[in-house]
Amino acid sequence: MIINIFSAEILRSHLLRKLTTIVIALPMAVACSRQGSLPNNLENSADNRPVVLTTFTILADMARQVAGDRLQVRSITKPGAEIHGYEPSPRDLEQASNADLIVENGLGLELWARRFVQSAADVPTVTLTEGMQPLLIEGDAYAGKPNPHAWMSPLRAQGYVDRLVDAFSQLDPEGAQLYRDNGNSYKLQLEKLDAELRNLLAVIPQKQRVLVSCEGAFSYLAQDYGFDEAYLWPVNAESQISPRRMARLIERVKKDQVPAVFCETTVSDKAQREVARASGARFGGSFYVDSLSKRNGPAPTLLDLQRHNVKLIRQGLAASAEKSS
Ligand SMILES: [Zn+2]
Repeated sequence: MIINIFSAEILRSHLLRKLTTIVIALPMAVACSRQGSLPNNLENSADNRPVVLTTFTILADMARQVAGDRLQVRSITKPGAEIHGYEPSPRDLEQASNADLIVENGLGLELWARRFVQSAADVPTVTLTEGMQPLLIEGDAYAGKPNPHAWMSPLRAQGYVDRLVDAFSQLDPEGAQLYRDNGNSYKLQLEKLDAELRNLLAVIPQKQRVLVSCEGAFSYLAQDYGFDEAYLWPVNAESQISPRRMARLIERVKKDQVPAVFCETTVSDKAQREVARASGARFGGSFYVDSLSKRNGPAPTLLDLQRHNVKLIRQGLAASAEKSS
């Protein structure tokens, strides 16, 4: 629905604002460059490509794959940030009101981004999961609510790409062909990734297919590749450790003889290490789920993130199977 609010009038007002920025910024930039290096904000002002602002780093990567060099893509939250309960700063709100397009995941993930509606009411927003049939969270207080982590399924991520292509083509019709081409080639990469992950996980025997994480963020991946999932809490917005949940998880790990348990990089792994200790499982490492790593880390893109996670799953759940058989 939201992308439809993109009207010629809004576009005009944005272009006008952008032009004003350039007119003001350019003489300042020249003055500054005479004195030496150019401050960052002025460098950005001199770049007149439309600004696409995403709510988190994974969406920024996907947006860059589609946009190529035609648009400036930025993420509000930085690598490693907790995104469910994020508190936007005054600078974030200012950034949002100066953007040309806001990209969000939806399915209740970034309720904090609703605050942009007040400060960036005239900026169009595209919700990448719109129209998608989500998986629902089971049990606990969140029962019946949609699970927002749909990007964790490479095939569902293709739907995100379609929405980005549409939104960018409306924002910048002259680039439409490029966005379509980039989108198609990225969708092909996601399709290949799906086959690659399926192959890598095929070595894990049926009885070892229980994926234990801190957050219940693996429902889509688990469904795609035939795993059961168990977790300490359904979503990070509510990541208090309840003794009841912890005891239940320890019981499950013991009963199913799960060889390894995991956590995620954006939350503390303390409780999960305790589950490992109490159940006799190994702590198998931390997944990237809600955030990419920094550029030189193991998960600078969504494709790298999936490969990193699946490597950990395989090491944790398949190696022990080989040992015990
Ligand atoms: Zn999450």
